[in-house]
Amino acid sequence: MTDFAQTRTMFHLPDGMIYLDGNSLGPLPKAAVDRVARTVKDEWGDMLITGWNRAGWMDKPMSVGNRIARLVGAEPGSIAMGDTLSIKVYQALASALEMNAPRKVILSDSGNFPSDLYMAQGLCRTLGNGYSLKIVTPEEVLDAIDDTVAVTMLTEVDYRTGRKHDMAAITKRAHDHGALTIWDLAHSAGAFPVELAKAGADFACGCTYKYLNSGPGGPAFIYVAPRHHDRARPALSGWQGHDAPFAFDLDYRPAGGAERMRVGTPPILQLAALEASLDIWDTVDMAALRARSLALTDQFIAGVEAACPTLTLATPRDHAMRGSQVSFRHPEGYAIMQALIARGVIGDFRAPDIIRFGFTPLYTTTDDVAKAVAILSEIIAKSLWDTPEFKTRKKVT
Ligand SMILES: *Cc1c(COP(=O)(O)O)cnc(C)c1O
Repeated sequence: MTDFAQTRTMFHLPDGMIYLDGNSLGPLPKAAVDRVARTVKDEWGDMLITGWNRAGWMDKPMSVGNRIARLVGAEPGSIAMGDTLSIKVYQALASALEMNAPRKVILSDSGNFPSDLYMAQGLCRTLGNGYSLKIVTPEEVLDAIDDTVAVTMLTEVDYRTGRKHDMAAITKRAHDHGALTIWDLAHSAGAFPVELAKAGADFACGCTYKYLNSGPGGPAFIYVAPRHHDRARPALSGWQGHDAPFAFDLDYRPAGGAERMRVGTPPILQLAALEASLDIWDTVDMAALRARSLALTDQFIAGVEAACPTLTLATPRDHAMRGSQVSFRHPEGYAIMQALIARGVIGDFRAPDIIRFGFTPLYTTTDDVAKAVAILSEIIAKSLWDTPEFKTRKKVT
């Protein structure tokens, strides 16, 4: 069992703040401060270039990937760290399309995060030649998989509503029709147990600055199923994904395993912050995390629905279809969220009308949820959001 009271003490949580936005940017693990400082002073400072060997910098993208593997049900050696999630989506997509030629259709849904769709549109433009992106609603995905689809590219949990796809069922139908699958785990990794190998996923990717708490700009990860390790050819064929980077060959030859998906120099300082967070994650039982997450989201839904009849639940009630966030709709959602933030309850707003709250058992308590419900109830009951100050849009929402 995991002691969530204990894990909470391992994060820096500002006084007076109820943080329900760890699904967007996780808080600082206290140990990351020293960990990063040591990496800066003892490694970068004192070792300089010898750190690549002496501090094991060169191996970090794969050794840290192996620690992420447990959280997402992946085989050792099948996850590489680096770059940002958008880049990793592009890499997975380019490899999958090449593997499944001559098919040319990428199937995605309207609940996907725009950057994933933009990356697909950009890749289709580069490839030309009839490649296309087909977007259906989340509910239509399963039936839309047919023998023309080269690859499904889906974010497992809808960033707006928190609706969760059935990864196993969609992967099975895709394979039955000869399609490959790419799963974006941005709102899954660290949110609940993921079983990539068991579901038979082909590719996956995710970021670490959300539920995994690596800090702003933390590296992404990419998963390649072992059965594809020799066939998946990286479109971004950088030197760090070469079989022998220090042979300095004129021609590219991919490394074995998922390591070929590395591109360039890894972000060592961000990886150090991530490792401090993974020290906490190593103590977490994922089934216990899920049970706690569902209890917190149930409590929030029940509390808000009882007190705020003008808010409409956008998140599925069915546990099997829910990630680890809760969203409500309201036409003045932006102003309501600004009013909440002014009172110390941090969530976020997603256009056009969604207020969104992430629930992260490592540091969110039932007491936090009760307080957040009480503050939101007062804001709604007294229309405290209805001021010009709260209605002015900021750059980041
Ligand atoms: C957060 C998120 C991203 C962000 O991508 P970056 O390249 O890391 O900025 C992409 N896709 C999804 C589904 C996300 O939730």
